[in-house]
Amino acid sequence: MAELETLTNILEEELEWIPPRPESVVVCSRCSHVLADAADTYEIQGATEHEFVNPYGVVHHFRSYRHALGCSTMGTAFHADTWFPGYRWKIATCGNCEDHLGWLFESGDSFYGLLIAKIVTQKLDRS
Ligand SMILES: [Zn+2]
Repeated sequence: MAELETLTNILEEELEWIPPRPESVVVCSRCSHVLADAADTYEIQGATEHEFVNPYGVVHHFRSYRHALGCSTMGTAFHADTWFPGYRWKIATCGNCEDHLGWLFESGDSFYGLLIAKIVTQKLDRS
């Protein structure tokens, strides 16, 4: 009986290492490639949704995520015209269809800003 309790304890500890399956995911609106866990939003400047105007006058409305494993990044990181002081930015594209989806912002930490018009949140089937 003591052995069974020990085994149960080991299993419980092991299971904590398995990340829970996301309830919803963020996908590319063009090709449905999975980009991120919808719950993995990242708060920066007190918000997870942001609206900025770039130097060309284009309004960008995006949501910030801690990770976006389905994205690829392009080129070098720029300091110029950053919306988050201290952060460099890189173009982030869909890892499948390469559509421009937003930016990766890097400093000591990093996060993705994904354009709301280019992404769709999908609930995963639990069955
Ligand atoms: Zn895509």
